[in-house]
Amino acid sequence: MPKDLEEYKEQRDFQQSSEPSADKKVGASEEQQFVIQKHDASNLHYDFRLQLENRLLSWAVPKGPSTDPSEKRLAIRTEDHPLAYANFEGRIAEGNYGAGTVLIWDKGHFENKRAQKQDSTSLKASLEEGKIEVCLHGEKLQGGYLLIRTQEGQQEKWLLKKMKDKAADARRKPTSTEARSVVSGDTLKEIQEKTND
Ligand code: MN
Repeated sequence: MPKDLEEYKEQRDFQQSSEPSADKKVGASEEQQFVIQKHDASNLHYDFRLQLENRLLSWAVPKGPSTDPSEKRLAIRTEDHPLAYANFEGRIAEGNYGAGTVLIWDKGHFENKRAQKQDSTSLKASLEEGKIEVCLHGEKLQGGYLLIRTQEGQQEKWLLKKMKDKAADARRKPTSTEARSVVSGDTLKEIQEKTND
């Protein structure tokens, strides 16, 4: 199943949705971006996205990321999103794919840890292999995170796990205690209210 930008485009009507279209050109940035968007759709989840060239590799994480290295979080691979999506916060109108409110829960840049090792593995090769190791430099999340593919096929299943390092903290529960957007400072409810027409 293709997880590329074609799938993103097919699922959306950009006349109806305020989400960015996939054609918008984005300037090259030296740092690879990551974003985690809290998405109050039919099921509340967190979309974890990592930049690979001009696209954002994407996973839907129902429980969101944890800072506790003993916790494994299910991450379902979804279609790639355009880079501009990293700045999207707002509401996807009723009747559209993914209808609901999107909040930028965390944002920053990341490094591919496997590229720094002896057998230097690119992010693309890590994706194909099903084992991604990144170091996040976000406002809420920092340090190593591991993504491991546990099921291939139509719906790829992965696990997202905090790696043991200085930023690991079993007691911190950022998904419950740090609910606001890192961009607007708003809560989901406040974004909903602002975008109500
Ligand atoms: Mn989503």
